[in-house]
Amino acid sequence: MDPVCQACGFQGESINHIIFRCSIARQVWALADVPYSESGFDEVSHFSNFHSLLLLIKNSSVPEGVRNSIPWIVWYLWKYRNGIIFEGKQARTIDLVAKIREEAEFWLMAQKNEEQGVKEEQEAVTGVKKSWSAPPNGWLKCNLGVYQNKEQKNCGVAWVLRNDRGKVMLHSRRALSNTNSKEEASYQGLLWAIESMHSHHLNRVIFALDDDLFMKVILRPKAWPNYRCQQLQLMERLGKIEWWRVIKEDRETNRGAFVIAQSVIRSGLSQSYVATGAPRWLRGLFENEECVPST
Ligand SMILES: [Zn+2]
Repeated sequence: MDPVCQACGFQGESINHIIFRCSIARQVWALADVPYSESGFDEVSHFSNFHSLLLLIKNSSVPEGVRNSIPWIVWYLWKYRNGIIFEGKQARTIDLVAKIREEAEFWLMAQKNEEQGVKEEQEAVTGVKKSWSAPPNGWLKCNLGVYQNKEQKNCGVAWVLRNDRGKVMLHSRRALSNTNSKEEASYQGLLWAIESMHSHHLNRVIFALDDDLFMKVILRPKAWPNYRCQQLQLMERLGKIEWWRVIKEDRETNRGAFVIAQSVIRSGLSQSYVATGAPRWLRGLFENEECVPST
């Protein structure tokens, strides 16, 4: 065992050093605006330091965002240490803090989502609850979510691709700027989703939209002459996919895609990405919608 801290060279690496006393740790705690005591964290006892953190988490005079990020700071400092030792990876503390904030925000959002889910389940006891349905055998279903922030005039869009067992294969999200209406965002979002399916070489895709305007435009172009230009664009892109369908998805059964689209704006995540599986913070929601294998 090498007792030297790989981040700062301190002799005698310990839990307390990694999480509280290391120069990296101190920078992260300071950058994250955590108001620990003026004398700093205790030099030896991580028990004492964790105790202070638990008090801080309960202290309502500390901003909620800061309090929520505390467990993530601890976790990320630990991960940072392992990253250096096992993968030779170093990160800038400022990036670390950005990542911590993002995770804390997502966690909170997922919790709220879960609460919402429980509420809906209770409601379902009295009424009939609609549920998301998987595509037929051999098909994939691409749910499109669109979220518009009217004040800021920007939109977030997301798609979630699931197989015939309801398992999430891929998801993606991005911000759309200069979209003045929900309609424009739905249109741009759909074009983007179709293009993404094509670029992943997928050829049996059902596009599920909760706003059915463009479904109608695609399926009954003659009834929507004012949308001729959009219809041509959409057909041009759809032409690259061998088999496709467009269907209407209920708002409530499109919740997963919608919440991801919402996260683009709510958390200011303008960077777009494609990732395999469902986002970690929404895994519960998507797993609930998976098909139960028949025994
Ligand atoms: Zn150190």
